[in-house]
Amino acid sequence: MKHVITILFIVPLLLSAQIVQADELLHGTVIGTDLYVDYSTSSASTMVNTREMAFDGDLNTFLATYERSQTWVGLDLGTPHVITRVGWSPRNDGLGPKRVMLAVFEGANSPDFLDALPLFVVKENGTIGVMSYADVNCSKGFRYVRYVGPNDARCNVAEVAFYGHAGEGDDKKLAQVTNLPTVSIHVVNNAEPYDKEHELRSYVSIISDNGTKLLKDSAFVRLRGNASMWFPKKPYRIKFDKKYSVLGAPSKAKKWTLINNYGDKTLMRNQLAFELSRRLGMPYTPFCAYVDVLLNGEYKGCYQLCDQIEMREGRVNIQEMKPEDISGEALTGGYLIEADAYADQEKSMFWSDKGTGVTIKSPDEDEIKTEQYNYIRTAYSNMENNWRAILDTKTFLTHFLVGEMSGNTDTYWSVYFYKRRSNDTIFTGPVWDFDLAFDNDGRTYPIMNLTDYIYRTKGSTTGYMRTLVDQVAVQDAAGKAQLKDIWGKAREAGLTEENFLAYIDKQAELLQESQRLNFVRWPIMNEYVHQNPRIWGSYEAEVNNVKRYVKERIAWMDKKLGYEYVPSKLTENVHADAIDYSKPYVVYSMLGERITTDISSLAKGVYIIAQEQQVVKVAIP
Ligand code: CA
Repeated sequence: MKHVITILFIVPLLLSAQIVQADELLHGTVIGTDLYVDYSTSSASTMVNTREMAFDGDLNTFLATYERSQTWVGLDLGTPHVITRVGWSPRNDGLGPKRVMLAVFEGANSPDFLDALPLFVVKENGTIGVMSYADVNCSKGFRYVRYVGPNDARCNVAEVAFYGHAGEGDDKKLAQVTNLPTVSIHVVNNAEPYDKEHELRSYVSIISDNGTKLLKDSAFVRLRGNASMWFPKKPYRIKFDKKYSVLGAPSKAKKWTLINNYGDKTLMRNQLAFELSRRLGMPYTPFCAYVDVLLNGEYKGCYQLCDQIEMREGRVNIQEMKPEDISGEALTGGYLIEADAYADQEKSMFWSDKGTGVTIKSPDEDEIKTEQYNYIRTAYSNMENNWRAILDTKTFLTHFLVGEMSGNTDTYWSVYFYKRRSNDTIFTGPVWDFDLAFDNDGRTYPIMNLTDYIYRTKGSTTGYMRTLVDQVAVQDAAGKAQLKDIWGKAREAGLTEENFLAYIDKQAELLQESQRLNFVRWPIMNEYVHQNPRIWGSYEAEVNNVKRYVKERIAWMDKKLGYEYVPSKLTENVHADAIDYSKPYVVYSMLGERITTDISSLAKGVYIIAQEQQVVKVAIP
């Protein structure tokens, strides 16, 4: 082991010569988990493999915590220091190298680490007998710094090191886990949210814009969802103390959801369906952004941060009711409800005359008055009895198209509706919950083998929904014509195979770094989870399956709806002749990505061509 010791002393000296001289190896009081495992007896100990072993400069001694989660080791530096580099070395045993993967370095100014921000996440296995180092790009100073062992494994580490210089620093540049924004949640007492009823006091930091933007506030965090709540990777609901427009979302709100996407190995299905919702023209589509989530300093994976479905400007934007709104015009709205197969598990719900279970989302279950309850129950029942007079078919059919195009088994298992004040119409939306869509459900896979709509063949429907959809979308001539019209307008506005596949590629590119870490944390790529119909074996193959489905489904929808897609129709509507093709021009995709400078190389589809001040949309037939 002589060479090991040599490396330990030489490597830091060599590297430190290359960095700012003021940054030195930092020393302090060792802090951290104080119950260890004695491997000779496999029992808990306070004497051997202690936290001090991670700072003794010896690569053959190590810390081994007794517990397998929420374990860490760090330093109290006495005063704030800006950390510029961290180092680590795994325990010298067979599993050691793996046991540093996804370890998280954090800094804080509160000894309980509730205010902690990430410094660095280890993204590779370690190497026994050597220190690995990483530069830290965080301008804020911290008094307390720590190394949090990855979850589900004992914090086993031979050596940890922090380098930096004294100073308070600032928030100008913080560390993200990947290119995606990082959501870091610290729960009081390191608790983990465990159900939907108990909201736990927490501190949430969202670092975005390549580390230049920080949203930080106290919040309450709990679990959310139905089936998704039972997976080991948990979905969370955050309720900030104040309202924020998180990550540039159109709404300013306290409540936000973190969708876990456990059964969706592409991690993008909800976003793809939301994109369909936008392109098909739903008045409101939930905001959704990919993020990495840290909980109590542990890496939890790649999530989607989304709107909470609620009434609010930028969300379902209708007038909210007050408890005193119990008569006249005031009683007529607004209401947000959900026809929901799980409605009988909710506190505020009704059964319609036709037997549909409907959850009342707003007014709130704790505030709703009997008059309001009776009013919306009657209004919904009237809609089912007489949809021609009461249902807004435009939003109902657009919602239908998102469900059928995406092949969502669950479209009519749960459907949101809303009602405005002084207006009898009931509107449908927003769309929500697509982890089983895009050919990801063994009960409906392969969707292209179904000759009829998925809701009519193998889809799950709740209450009277199936009959209602039959009546509106299939049996009614005007409904069928309206469906074709909504679909055709979206197709002509650019919902094409080419640009939707390009959109999918763009999502995969965004998710690349985070998906790798996600599937290290949750090694399920080769397992059947949720309703997975097949094991595709890699992230790329999972994404390719979605692309294959989308390509086939767009053509199927055209045929089913009796719509003929003629790209050249577009050429008549735009000033394609504004471009002089004998002079230089640039061709962009409909997503604005530069493709070529020569139209002769283009596949058929719709593009944007720019030449000097002219920008036109053209179709290549
Ligand atoms: Ca050591």
